[in-house]
Amino acid sequence: MAVQVAGAPDTDVVVVGAGPVGLLLAGILRLGGARVTVLEQLAEPTDESRASVLHARTMEILDGLGLLERLGPPPSAGPGHFGGIPLDLTAALPSRFPGQWKAPQTLVEKVLYEWAAGLGAEVRRGHTVTGLTVAEDRVHAEVTGPAGERLRFAAGYLAGCDGERSTVRRLGGFEFPGSGPVKELLRADISGIEIPDRRFQRHPNGVANSRRGPDGVTRLMVHQYGRTPGPDGRAPDFAEVCRVWARVTGEDIAGARPVWVNAFHNARGQAASYRLGRVFLAGDAAHVQLPVGGQALNLGLQDAAALGGRLAARITGRGDDRTLDKYHAERHPVGARVLGNIEAQAQLLFGGPEVDALRAVFGELLALEPARRHLASMISGVDGPRPAVPDTGTAEHSTATGPFTRTHRRTTMGKLTGKTALVTGSSRGIGRATAIRLAREGALVAVHCSRDTEGADDTVAAVEKEGGRAFAVAAELGVSGDVHALFLELEHGLKERTGETTLDIVVNNAGVMGGVAPEDVTPEQFDRLFAVNAKAPFFIVQRALRLLPDGGRIINISSGLTRFANPQEVAYAMTKGAIDQLTLHYAKHLGPRNITVNSVGPGITDNGTPIFDNPEAVAEMARYSVFERVGETKDIADVVAFLASDDARWITGSYLDASGGTLLR
Ligand code: NAP
Repeated sequence: MAVQVAGAPDTDVVVVGAGPVGLLLAGILRLGGARVTVLEQLAEPTDESRASVLHARTMEILDGLGLLERLGPPPSAGPGHFGGIPLDLTAALPSRFPGQWKAPQTLVEKVLYEWAAGLGAEVRRGHTVTGLTVAEDRVHAEVTGPAGERLRFAAGYLAGCDGERSTVRRLGGFEFPGSGPVKELLRADISGIEIPDRRFQRHPNGVANSRRGPDGVTRLMVHQYGRTPGPDGRAPDFAEVCRVWARVTGEDIAGARPVWVNAFHNARGQAASYRLGRVFLAGDAAHVQLPVGGQALNLGLQDAAALGGRLAARITGRGDDRTLDKYHAERHPVGARVLGNIEAQAQLLFGGPEVDALRAVFGELLALEPARRHLASMISGVDGPRPAVPDTGTAEHSTATGPFTRTHRRTTMGKLTGKTALVTGSSRGIGRATAIRLAREGALVAVHCSRDTEGADDTVAAVEKEGGRAFAVAAELGVSGDVHALFLELEHGLKERTGETTLDIVVNNAGVMGGVAPEDVTPEQFDRLFAVNAKAPFFIVQRALRLLPDGGRIINISSGLTRFANPQEVAYAMTKGAIDQLTLHYAKHLGPRNITVNSVGPGITDNGTPIFDNPEAVAEMARYSVFERVGETKDIADVVAFLASDDARWITGSYLDASGGTLLR
C-alpha cells in the first residue's frame, strides 16, 4: 500500500501514533469490523514508563475487551492521592474495579500492540506523518518512511493519537487554547542507591516523592518552589535532577545510576474540537495536562474507547455522521473536567507555604466519606459517561447485528450480561434499586413507572452513570388496557436497542399500599388495590410469556404482611397473598420451560417516603427486625438480582423472606 490516487481508500482509518491510545483505538476498530493502519514515527517501542496506574473506568473497558488477564491482571497500586493529599480511591466507587491498578505503560503498550496486531491492525513503525489533505471522501496522509522514502496513505478517516506535541493537531488545523507552563517537575528512575520512600513530602524549598519498585529501581519526582520551568519537551540531565533533589531534600543522590530522566510541567490545553470532518484527536493530542496520578493516560484510553466504537459503527454502516459528532460531545466535557481537577491538584501540590491552610482544610474534607467518594469518582473516571465499548446498545447504533454486538454479549461482565429485564414501578423505592442492581449485572432494563416519568428518567440516568443500559416506559396499571399499553412501549424499546423483543426477566414490583382500617375499606379502594397489585401482575406475566425465553425469570414482590398481621393493611395483604398464589401456580406451569417464578417478601423497607425521615418512627419500625434496623431498598434489590441470575436456577415457586428476620421477633 503506498501511493494511491483514485479508487477506494487504502484503509478505513489511519491511526497516527502507536502508543497505548492509538493501539487501543486500532484494536477496537478492528473488533468493529474496520480496516486500520497505524503509523508510528518511532522505530521501536519506547521503554519509558511515563504512567503506571490504571483507574476504575479504564479497567472496566479493558476488562470488557478481555485484556485484563493479559495485563497480569494488574495488582492494586495502593491508595491514591489528590494533589499529594492521601485519597483512598476505593471509596465506595460504583465500579467493579474501585481503586488504582498497577500497569506500567510499557506493559500496557506491549499488550495492546499484540492484541491489536493479532486482530489484524497493520502497525507500521518508523513512519512520520508530514502532511494531511482532506478530500470529500477521504484523508490523505503524506508520510516519510523508515528509509526516508515518501509515501502517501489514503483513508476514510484519520485519528491523531500522537501525543502532546501532536503533528495531526497542527496539520489538521485544530484550535488548541490553553496556558503555558508555570511549574515544573523533574522525574528520574534511578538504581544503585537506597533512599527512603516518601509520598509528596513537603519541604521548605519544594516537594519530593520517591518510591522504590520491586525491581530495585526508585522513581523520584521533585519540584522546587519558584523555579522557572525549562523549555517544553527538554530532557534535563541527571546532574540537574541531583542538584534540585539536594536543594529540596538535603540528600545526595549523585552516586545513583539514572535509568531514565525527564521533566514535565503544568502547561494545559484542550482542542476546541476533537473532530474536524474526517480527522479526530484522542489522548494527549486532544488535551495536554500535568500527568498527575495517571489521569492523562487513563483519559486518553477512555477517549480511544469512546471513539473506536463510534468510528467502527460509522464505517460499517451502523451509525451516521451524528454518531461521530457524539465523540466530541461526550469526551470534550470529560476532558475539561479532568483538566480542571488536575489544575486544582497542581495548585495543592506545587504551592509553597501559601497553600498550607488550603491543604489543611482539604485534608479535613477528605476525612468525610462523601467528599472522598466524589473525588475518587472524578479521578477514576466513573463520574462521566462510560465509553460505549464494546456496548452497541446505544441508540446511535441500536440495531447492530455485526461483530460488535457479539463482542458486547460476550465480553461485558456481570451475571445478567446480554439479558433484558422489565422492572415495574422502578421510578423510585425498591423498584429503582432493583433496576440499578440488575443493570449493574449487565442487564438492559426497562424502567417502568405510572406517571412519575421524571423519576423513571432519574433511574435511567443513575443506571447510565454506572455504565449500564436502561430505558423508561410509562403505563398506568390497574386501568383498562394497562398491560397492552405497557407492552407496546416495552417491545418498541427492546426492539430499538436489541433488534428483538426477548424479555428474560420480569419483576412485578409496582404496588400501592392501603393504610385503611378494615372497617373503613371501601369497595372502590379494595378493587383498586387488587387491580394494581394482583390483576396487573397476573396479566403482565400472561403477556410476557410470549417474550420470555426458556430459562427466563419471573420475580413477584410480595410482602411480609402475608406472614404477619397488620389490620390496617388487610386488603393490601390480601393482594400480596394473591401474588404468592400467582408464584406458586405459575411455577408449576412454567417448570417445563425452565422459567422460574418466585416471590420476595420485604419487611419494612425505607423507600424514601417522609416517614423514614422521622428518627422516632424509624426506631420504632426497626424493632421488628432482628437486625434492629429497617430494610434498605438495596437489601431487596440484591435478593431479586440473585433470583434473576443463573445461581438461582434451582429455586422456583418459593417465597423468599427478605424482612430482616421480622418473623423471628
Ligand atoms: P414506592 O416507593 O411507593 O414506589 C411504587 C412504584 O410503583 C412507583 O414506581 C410507582 O410509579 C409504581 N406504581 C404505583 N402505582 C402504580 C400504578 N397504578 N401503575 C403503575 N405503576 C404504579 O414503592 P416501594 O415501597 O418501593 O414498594 C415496591 C413494592 O414492594 C410494592 O409492590 C410494595 O407493595 C412492596 N413492599 C414494600 C414494602 C416497603 O416497606 N416499602 C414492604 C413490603 C412490600 P409512579 O412513581 O409513576 O407512581
